[in-house]
Amino acid sequence: MAKAFASSADLAPKSETLEVLGDGIYALTAEGDPNVGAFEGEDFLVCIEARATPAAARDWLAKLREQTDKPVRYLVLTHYHAVRVLGASAFDAEVIVSSDATRSLIKERGKQDWASEFGRMPRLFKEPEEIPGLTWPTLTFDTAMRIELGGDRGHLELRFCGKGHTAGDIVVWHEKTRTLFAGDLVEAQAALYTGDAFHFDWASATLDRVKEYRAEQLIGGRGAVARGSEACDMAIEQTRNFLNVMVAETRAVHQRRGTLKEAFQACHAALEPRYGRWPIFEHCLPFDVKRLWDELDGKNWPEIWTMELDRMVWDQLQD
Ligand SMILES: [Zn+2]
Repeated sequence: MAKAFASSADLAPKSETLEVLGDGIYALTAEGDPNVGAFEGEDFLVCIEARATPAAARDWLAKLREQTDKPVRYLVLTHYHAVRVLGASAFDAEVIVSSDATRSLIKERGKQDWASEFGRMPRLFKEPEEIPGLTWPTLTFDTAMRIELGGDRGHLELRFCGKGHTAGDIVVWHEKTRTLFAGDLVEAQAALYTGDAFHFDWASATLDRVKEYRAEQLIGGRGAVARGSEACDMAIEQTRNFLNVMVAETRAVHQRRGTLKEAFQACHAALEPRYGRWPIFEHCLPFDVKRLWDELDGKNWPEIWTMELDRMVWDQLQD
């Protein structure tokens, strides 16, 4: 039987867990669905990620509102992917923050990415008709930005660590509690999506910079919260290993002038024993290998995924 396209057959809801990671620090994890979080300032909130739709965002906000009723001053978007940004209108945030590069990517490919992600992961798009349009950041920065939380709550550092999962990912660092929200640059026990990635930058300098924080708590894009520096390092190194295995397998096939499909099969065989049961592994891998193949072909800028390209690559690689 043919495999169902991407995550289109994954329709069972995941159970969500609100975790209190410190005084006024929250993460909502959901068994491999995209994670979100929030920090309390003295009289405001900083929310991280917006989910796929306003309805999905409201489900998260209802849980957050059991903890605090402070208004959302900052909504931070770690990158441009639709399932992370299109719920933004539900937050009534004063300011929507991203990197400059993320803003450019929304302008360049936000519409196509919306359609593509909706087709790949329909379950995440709860009441999609409420999405008012693309989400536009109202405050962007090149490499770093600081948010003072007030009182004795310390500050947040938002930082672009180099190209990785996309050309514009940022991390959110709370030095006082050594807590790092890493967006999709790090996944803890979830497979990687690398269809818009810069594999070589990501696996080297970018993850090195993420690791330099020496986080004690790390919330990746998907999967469980890593607690303790050892678990944080493990999540980072597991992410790097996934990338390195893909690069080694794909490069070998590319060098002997094999086909994209052969590269996909080699990657699948090499990764499946360790990562095959993790969320979205089967969904992501065809798109991942296609982007890496393009990089090896010298295509620096990721091709824009459309519903048509998604289906073409899927049909070519899965049978
Ligand atoms: Zn992403």
